[in-house]
Amino acid sequence: MQIKAPKGVADILPDDIPMWRYMEHALRSALERSGFAEIRLPIFENSQLFSHSIGAETDIVAKEMYTFQDNGGRSLSLRPEGTASAVRAYLENRLYERNPICRIFYMGPMFRAERPQKGRYRQFHQLGAEVFGTDSAYLDAEILALLMRCFKRMQLTSLKLQLNSLGCPECRPQYKRQLVVFLGDNQAGLCADCMRRADTNPLRVFDCKNPGCKEVLAPAPQSLTSLCGACKDHFEQVKELLTTLEVAFEINPRLVRGLDYYTRTAFEIVSSQGDKSPDKSPDQSPLGAQNAVAGGGRFDGLVEQLGGPKTPAFGFAIGLERLLLLLQEQPPAIEPSAWVYLALLGEKAKRKGFILQQNLRQQGITVQMNYADQCLKKQLKSAHNLGAPYVVIMGDDEIKNQRVILKDMKDGTQENVPLEQLIGKLAEINS
Ligand SMILES: [Zn+2]
Ligand SMILES: [Zn+2]
Repeated sequence: MQIKAPKGVADILPDDIPMWRYMEHALRSALERSGFAEIRLPIFENSQLFSHSIGAETDIVAKEMYTFQDNGGRSLSLRPEGTASAVRAYLENRLYERNPICRIFYMGPMFRAERPQKGRYRQFHQLGAEVFGTDSAYLDAEILALLMRCFKRMQLTSLKLQLNSLGCPECRPQYKRQLVVFLGDNQAGLCADCMRRADTNPLRVFDCKNPGCKEVLAPAPQSLTSLCGACKDHFEQVKELLTTLEVAFEINPRLVRGLDYYTRTAFEIVSSQGDKSPDKSPDQSPLGAQNAVAGGGRFDGLVEQLGGPKTPAFGFAIGLERLLLLLQEQPPAIEPSAWVYLALLGEKAKRKGFILQQNLRQQGITVQMNYADQCLKKQLKSAHNLGAPYVVIMGDDEIKNQRVILKDMKDGTQENVPLEQLIGKLAEINS
């Protein structure tokens, strides 16, 4: 009997790893340059953590979480996202004592029992980052600019930043009341889930994927028009600072994010590829219907809600599988797994090459050699398969003359190089 991976769970194969590494490295270095430090969080937590933060009425907690009882009868859940764990760790380890502003990021698998589709898995990967300790609009603008710049550096120029403000505990209740009245007036067109949400958590109706509900909700009141003075000023400042930094954005008043803890700024970064013409179906976008590659916003009340001191915060998560789909559309140049390949013919050349391999690695050059004593043709094929731009060919004659052949795999030219100059020459081309 052959046992397969569970539905919606994928292996990341060796061929895909260079792209993953490229992506992780690009994001990690952008964050580290901006003062973020990595934190490694557990894969599972007490279930309560998620129901208390994400919200018991959200789809994530109500329908999609992997929850189980351990042998001690405790209810545990695989993490469906990272912010709740990050806040818990921030409080439990008193990270606020080190620095009034705490910047952390994490990377790893998250788990949600959603219907698997393009770019969406039940075990998926996110890079998340959170900043604790300031409610300044400068921070919102800084992080949004950082993300857009980082994607641009990865050649992803068709991404759009969408913004909304969800208000605060001062102004949101009033907005909720308006929304509840609207939902009451439009009950007829709403699905059973939305009817339930209208009672328990009205903002969640905007998460409904039902086309009928979407249509009914199109003229629903917007949070932006109910903002209190402080929230309005905050949002205006975020927009003004983004304009100063020349970061383009658009306002999306329907953007509520699928979690309860957001306050004020909420954002998504969406792929606009594939929806350039109105008659194109969303499936023609490389991300299909799931076109957000990153999202997040402020959660000024969450730390307090989870038992900590009043601490404003801002964070985001990037869906790495989705980012990967976009990168595969226009693959960036990725370091080959061998920059130079040593094609060695005969025992003497093999020994010489073995030492050369070590010396080249000490120079920081990515090198591989052939241990299988194959013919030259096969060795060149291996070099080609590894994507090596250069091959060093060495046989008995070359050892005798103390010269080797350096082959440029791109144009097929080759030159004869004295052995003692080889490392210097390769280091020069590689620099
Ligand atoms: Zn407000
Ligand atoms: Zn609905």
